[in-house]
Amino acid sequence: MTVYANPGTEGAVFSYAPRYDHFIGGEYVPPANGQYFENQTPVTGAVFTEIARGTAADVDRAVEAGWKAFPAWSKTSVAERAVILNRIADRMEEHLEEIAVAESWENGKPVRETLAADIPLAIDHFRYFAGAIRAQEGGISELDHDTVAYHFHEPLGVVGQIIPWNFPILMAVWKLAPALAAGNCVVLKPAEQTPASIHLIVDLVKDLLPAGVLNVVNGFGIEAGAPLASHPRIRKIAFTGETTTGRLIMQYASENLIPVTLELGGKSPNVFFEDVAREHDQYYEKAQEGFSMFALNQGEVCTCPSRALVQRSIYDGFVGDALTRIGKIKQGNPLDTDTMIGAQASNDQLEKILSYMDIGKQGGAKLLIGGERADLGGELSGGFYVQPTVFEGTNDMRIFQEEIFGPVLALTSFADYDEAISIANDTLYGLGAGVWSREATTLYRAGRAIEAGRVWSNTYHQYPAHAAFGGYKQSGIGRENHKMMLDHYQQTKNLLVSYAEGPMGFF
Ligand code: NAD
Repeated sequence: MTVYANPGTEGAVFSYAPRYDHFIGGEYVPPANGQYFENQTPVTGAVFTEIARGTAADVDRAVEAGWKAFPAWSKTSVAERAVILNRIADRMEEHLEEIAVAESWENGKPVRETLAADIPLAIDHFRYFAGAIRAQEGGISELDHDTVAYHFHEPLGVVGQIIPWNFPILMAVWKLAPALAAGNCVVLKPAEQTPASIHLIVDLVKDLLPAGVLNVVNGFGIEAGAPLASHPRIRKIAFTGETTTGRLIMQYASENLIPVTLELGGKSPNVFFEDVAREHDQYYEKAQEGFSMFALNQGEVCTCPSRALVQRSIYDGFVGDALTRIGKIKQGNPLDTDTMIGAQASNDQLEKILSYMDIGKQGGAKLLIGGERADLGGELSGGFYVQPTVFEGTNDMRIFQEEIFGPVLALTSFADYDEAISIANDTLYGLGAGVWSREATTLYRAGRAIEAGRVWSNTYHQYPAHAAFGGYKQSGIGRENHKMMLDHYQQTKNLLVSYAEGPMGFF
């Protein structure tokens, strides 16, 4: 067991700067209006740094810097860009521990996850797109003996990217790696709750990229995000966040007729068929763990399996065992490597979750475990901790239909396969799903029948760079990860060339 010291205290692996400006054109730039806002850690509730409060003027400056860098950057060879992406990955790997601690300190998530998952996944993402861009092929079609159509992948230009606070670094890298690999320049706006750890990355890699290729403008959604998404000189906007904000982003983008990718909310079903309990073996234990996955990252995951559907014939025994397991989840200081569940990312989020506890109770759901704010004592008393919670109810209740984004599970039962699929699909969302069965046929049929962009079968919460990720229905538009992501950051140039010497014959 290791307990990392709080950043900035004795023995800490790193300290934050007292203040972070925007990063524009390769340098730190103070905000045009001179204003800053405080960044608070969810671990203790303390303010640990302050951040530039961006506005339209800062966005203008960043977009300008991007366009200045674009002509040279867009002409670099794919091999050159791949080398740079790999160097960024190497640099991050050399500093894995401090980035992981920074991410935990700022977001509240357990450091055992940031060390083993969030940051290694982000590093691998750069490496994946370094490889993918080199392997990408153009196309040549011979139209007739003397006429050839050449197809080239060209970058879009300066693109805008807006990200949420639940996986600050991973969400940034999911967007940055393909955009940079494809030869675009970027203006990134981090979430106002978690901008500092992104600046740690910027600081680490800024010498590896030409000035203006990567620009970061901090600030709030309306003040900095809206001017970015509606900026007439960006060529694409990529957004991850709430479905309601996604609608606004689409409206802004429609003014300039630019492409949009949206990664939005979810209310993912996790479906347990009766054969999981046929034996109480290792597979049963795995399925039990799968049931608890709603608590991973404190439930602040867009694909959180926040609805569990358990077949009625095994319901009492399976759920009883699962509740015992949930009761043993170790909640504590996110900087302790033994901690399994940490703090919610902000006080606002904590309050939203607590309000849903009331909505669940008032709506007639039965509380099976948890249901309260967790007071962990000492300096953690000021932090934003919630007990893992399970409510039993029916799929028409608000806690089954609305995204809570906390460690709160809405549990129900089903009679047979058809009812399971019908409940699973009875939602506005379609981001993720889990299916648990020992039968390959059941897994396949359910996997195809559930309307979601990602269906995990006998596993959950894995996010490899080479598996496409994105939403059906109101969970989004477009995909992230996988080399198909490059399509969202490139446009196709067709050169149609005649090598014939004779006349065309029209006039
Ligand atoms: P949010 O929509 O409130 O904010 C996301 C980002 O958008 C922030 O940077 C914010 O400043 C900015 N923003 C807010 N209003 C804006 C506006 N009017 N114009 C431009 N930008 C604006 O979402 P959140 O609360 O930060 O994040 C949680 C949400 O993100 C959840 O709904 C979750 O499901 C979703 N999410 C989705 C995925 C996915 O891949 N589908 C991944 C992570 C999170």
